Amino acid sequence: MSFATTQFIYVLALYGLIVLVPFFALCYAPLKSMAGWKMNIGVRAKGHAKEILPTLSSFAVLYGCLLLVDHDSFTTLSKWQYILSFPLIVLIHDAYFYWTHYLMHKSKFLYRFHKQHHTSSDATPLDVLAFHPVEAFVHFIFFAVYPMIIPTEVSVMQFMFIWMLVCNSAGHLPYEFYPKFLYDFPVIREFNAATHHQMHHKYYTTNFSIYYNWWDRWMNTNHKDYFVTFKKVKASQIISEKPSAFTLPIVSEVVSPVVQVPFSRGAHETTNSQSL
Ligand SMILES: [Zn+2]
Ligand SMILES: [Zn+2]
Repeated sequence: MSFATTQFIYVLALYGLIVLVPFFALCYAPLKSMAGWKMNIGVRAKGHAKEILPTLSSFAVLYGCLLLVDHDSFTTLSKWQYILSFPLIVLIHDAYFYWTHYLMHKSKFLYRFHKQHHTSSDATPLDVLAFHPVEAFVHFIFFAVYPMIIPTEVSVMQFMFIWMLVCNSAGHLPYEFYPKFLYDFPVIREFNAATHHQMHHKYYTTNFSIYYNWWDRWMNTNHKDYFVTFKKVKASQIISEKPSAFTLPIVSEVVSPVVQVPFSRGAHETTNSQSL
């Protein structure tokens, strides 16, 4: 079996475990015991063809990108190089995703490809790989080019697939499992909660980062109400014994000029920048 085929089967298995299982358990046939963790993002259109067909084409693009790499693309690292290579690939992919995503929103030409991913204003894990083939190529070529530029091992890339799918699956779940108290810790609160990407799907024009919040903060592209909304979502889970799902405000209620939102031990400048 070729290297590309082996890695492709590996990603397929991960996708089933990390994306499809949560989708069926929490979205398709949601467990009643989990209802208190849910956010009400909007009314979903019936059927899933708009996610399934783009996802199948994304897998085809992924396989094509994997054909560009083989065992010779990777190397053997020293112990410390190996340890450091994990945060390194996460940080580089975090920046790569922010800037490609940002450009896909800011460019009318590129947005015509990215809008495929935005057919759902209330995302579920099925949207994780629901891309136009052009956007899928932008995402997956990273895994072919990275080992050509930065010496790394196969297991580091395999870890990155797990990390990417776990974070994306959690970010597309209409459930907020991220503990509120963790947002009191300066480093941990940098990690994007599910509310962050759900707000991106609902309002389109902000919240472009994937794993960490710092690019949105540095570029002033956080939704002005992100942190407030996160706290409201968590409060709705705590106040009631049988909490009702928190509902995000409609778009017209949240589009406003640049404002500052104080949050914990700092202030996050945020904005609703128009994309198109
Ligand atoms: Zn987007
Ligand atoms: Zn998304």
